[in-house]
Amino acid sequence: MKQELIRNFSIIAHIDHGKSTLADRLLEETGTLSAREKADQFLDKMELERERGITIKAQAVRLKYHADDGKDYILNLIDTPGHVDFSYEVSRSLKACEGALLVVDASQGVEAQTLANVYMAIDQNLEVFPVINKIDLPAADPQRVKEEIEEIIGLDASDAVEASAKEGIGIHEILEHIVQKVPPPKGDPDAPLKALIFDSWYDSYQGVITLVRIIDGRLKKGDKILLMANKKNYEVTQVGVFSPHPVAIGSLSAGEVGFVIASIKVVQDAKVGDTITHPDRPTATPLPGFQVVKPMVFSGLYPIDTGEYDLLRDALEKLRLNDSSFSFEPENSLALGFGFRCGFLGLLHMEIIQERLEREFGVDLITTAPTVVYHVTTVKGEMLKVESANMLPEVQYIEKMEEPFILASIHVPNEYVGAVLALCEEKRGTQREIKYLTASRVMVVYELPLNEIVLDFYDRLKTLTRGYASLDYEPLDYRKSDLVRLNILVNGEPVDALSLIVHRDKAYYRGKDLVSKMKEFIPRQQFEVALQAAIGGKVVARETVKALRKDVTAKCYGGDISRKRKLLEKQKEGKKRMKQVGNVELPQEAFMAILKVK
Ligand code: GDP
Ligand code: MG
Repeated sequence: MKQELIRNFSIIAHIDHGKSTLADRLLEETGTLSAREKADQFLDKMELERERGITIKAQAVRLKYHADDGKDYILNLIDTPGHVDFSYEVSRSLKACEGALLVVDASQGVEAQTLANVYMAIDQNLEVFPVINKIDLPAADPQRVKEEIEEIIGLDASDAVEASAKEGIGIHEILEHIVQKVPPPKGDPDAPLKALIFDSWYDSYQGVITLVRIIDGRLKKGDKILLMANKKNYEVTQVGVFSPHPVAIGSLSAGEVGFVIASIKVVQDAKVGDTITHPDRPTATPLPGFQVVKPMVFSGLYPIDTGEYDLLRDALEKLRLNDSSFSFEPENSLALGFGFRCGFLGLLHMEIIQERLEREFGVDLITTAPTVVYHVTTVKGEMLKVESANMLPEVQYIEKMEEPFILASIHVPNEYVGAVLALCEEKRGTQREIKYLTASRVMVVYELPLNEIVLDFYDRLKTLTRGYASLDYEPLDYRKSDLVRLNILVNGEPVDALSLIVHRDKAYYRGKDLVSKMKEFIPRQQFEVALQAAIGGKVVARETVKALRKDVTAKCYGGDISRKRKLLEKQKEGKKRMKQVGNVELPQEAFMAILKVK
C-alpha cells in the first residue's frame, strides 16, 4: 500500500455530539457496511457488545474511499474512548493518527471534554479540523460555534464542514477534507520494525488481539516478535484489518493500521503503548510515552451472600482478562467478611465494573465508598500507600500524610459561575483561573483534592448547573494534608467497612451528616440501633433508629415453626441488598451514604 494513499484519523467529540452517528455515516458512504448492516448503528452496536464483554471490536476500521481526485484511498478510522478516566488510551490512539476530526454539536458548542482531547491531539501535532454537526436542529447556531472554536481552541474554523450526521448532510465533504487535510503517514518500510500497540483485548478463541500502528518496517504472519516493555517473544499467527469485520491480510507495513494475533495469553502482556519489534533485527529505541496505568480510585467489593465469594473471584478474574487497568486483591472486613479491594482508573470505570459484575455474572454486591490512595509517612520514615481507612496506622505512628490533587477544568454558562466557585471552595479547592471564553461561557480552573471529587462532586456540579457544566481533570501531585480517620459505630461497635479518611476541618460535619443520612437508609429493626461517628476515640455525633413497635413473628406464638420460617423468608426477599453486621441489618445504601452527604 502506497503511503500517499493512506489516511489515519480519529474523531474527537464531547459525549452525545454525534461521534458514533458520524462514524456510521462514513462507513455507509464508503460502502464499508453492506445494505443489510446499515439498519442499525454499527459502531454503537459494537460498543454495546464490547460493554457486554463480547470480543468483536471495531476500534480501527479500514474504509476504502474513491476520492474526487480519482484516486482510491485507504482511510483508517481509529476510535478513541470519550471519557476522562481513559485519557492514556486516548493519547495512544491519537499517536496512531496523523489527523483528527473535531465534532462539535451546533446547538451545544465547545465542552470541556472536547477540549482535553483536542489539546492532546494538537500537542501531538495532529492536523485537527472542525466539523459542526447537527445543523438540522432548530437551535443550531453554526456561526456562533465556529467563533467559539476559534476563540476557545484557537483553531481556524473558517472552512469547518457544516454537517448533519443524522440527515447525511456534509458527509462527502468530510471525506474530502480527510483526504486533503490529513497528511499521509511517513515511516520507512525497510527500517527495523517499530509498531505501536494502541489497544488490546482478550478473545476466548484467539487469545489476545492487539491493534497496532506500524511506524516503521513490516509485519507478517509467522514473524517472531518482541514486545519491548514486556520483554517477551511471540510468534505472529495472524495479521489483518477490520473493514469492519476482521479480514486476514498478508502483511502490514509502515503507515498502516491493523490487528495482530500472536498467541499472547493475557492482556497484561500486551499493554497499550508497548512497542513491537523483531528480536533478530530490533529497532534501536522503543516508542516514547509508554506508561503502566495505575488505578486512582479504590473500593471494597463484598458478596452479600458469603457463599458467592468464589463466584465473585471468578468474575473479577474474567473481567481482568480484558482490562489490564483494573486491579483486585482479597480483603477482609470484620463487618463484611471476605471480599476484594479493587482499583479503578476513575469513578466511571468503577461503575462499569460494578455493573458488569451484577448484570453479567449475577453477583449481588455490597460496595464500600470509593477512596483515593494516600501517602502516609510513618515516624520510622517508611512511606505507605494507603487505599482504605483500615490500612491507616494509629495516629502516634504517623509522621505525615499526603493526598492526591487534581487540576479540574469546568466549563459553565455565565449564570452558574457563582455556584461553581462556591462548590469548589467548599471542596477545599484553590482557584487557578477564571476565563471568559465567550460572552456567555466561562472556564473555571481549580486545584482540588481528588478525595473530594470521588465523593459527590460531579453529581453536585450537575445539579447546581442544571446539567450545563462539564468537567475534565488531570492528576497534579501529592500534597501534605491534615487527615483523620472517621469511624462509624453501630450499636457501639466500630464498622470497619464504614470508616473513612477525611480532612480534619470536614470531619465533624461529615460525621454528623453521615450518621443522619444513614439513619434514613437503615430500616427499623426489632431493637434500637445507635449510630455514632467518632474521630479517634471521641464520639462527635449520634443518631438513633427506633425499634419496631411489633415483632413480626410475635403473632406466631413461637409455636408454629414452619409459619415463622415462611414469614422470615418473605422478609428476606425485601432485603436482598442487606448485610448483617453484628446483629444489625445494613442495606447497601448505608455503605454508600457518604456519597449523599454534602
Ligand atoms: P456520541 O456520544 O458522540 O457517539 O453521539 P451519538 O452518535 O451517539 O449521538 C448522540 C445523539 O445525537 C443520538 O441521539 C443521535 O441520534 C443524535 N445525533 C447525532 N448526529 C445528529 C445530527 O446530525 N442531528 C441530530 N438532530 N441529531 C444527531
Ligand atoms: Mg458514541
